Amino acid sequence: MRFLLDGMLGSLARWLRICGYDAEYIRDAEDDELIRRAMEENRILLTRDKALYRKALRMGLNAHFVEGESDAERLASVAHRFTLTLKPEGSRCPMCGLPLREVKREEVRGLVPEGTYNRYNRFWICTGCGRVYWRGSHWRRIVETIEEAERLYKGLKG
Ligand SMILES: [Zn+2]
Repeated sequence: MRFLLDGMLGSLARWLRICGYDAEYIRDAEDDELIRRAMEENRILLTRDKALYRKALRMGLNAHFVEGESDAERLASVAHRFTLTLKPEGSRCPMCGLPLREVKREEVRGLVPEGTYNRYNRFWICTGCGRVYWRGSHWRRIVETIEEAERLYKGLKG
């Protein structure tokens, strides 16, 4: 399942990527451009724009109007609609969406702050943009947001 998100949903795209989903987003695109890209790349369009949503449906595109204000609510809305599994996979780069590759600790020496290098054992490098990831204190918050989305999702299934 592949997604294309409109420019207002960049944050949601990052959360979907953290859960392992292929989620592209385009910042400043006209509606027609978004619809064309979604069709060409066989992606489901996610949007908070009612007019764009209706237009996409009229053109036969699989689209979802994302409900909710918080990241967790929006993630739950998409999970509910497409029966997604919400797990903090950490297998895709939140920034560019390409797969992460786990690397030996020595490979990131000099690429991360020394304190980080000394404190953590597992590191990942993005195969696209080259960013380095580790599961620091922020990872706990990421997990908490996804767990909250999971609870909201179960509530929706109710
Ligand atoms: Zn990347």
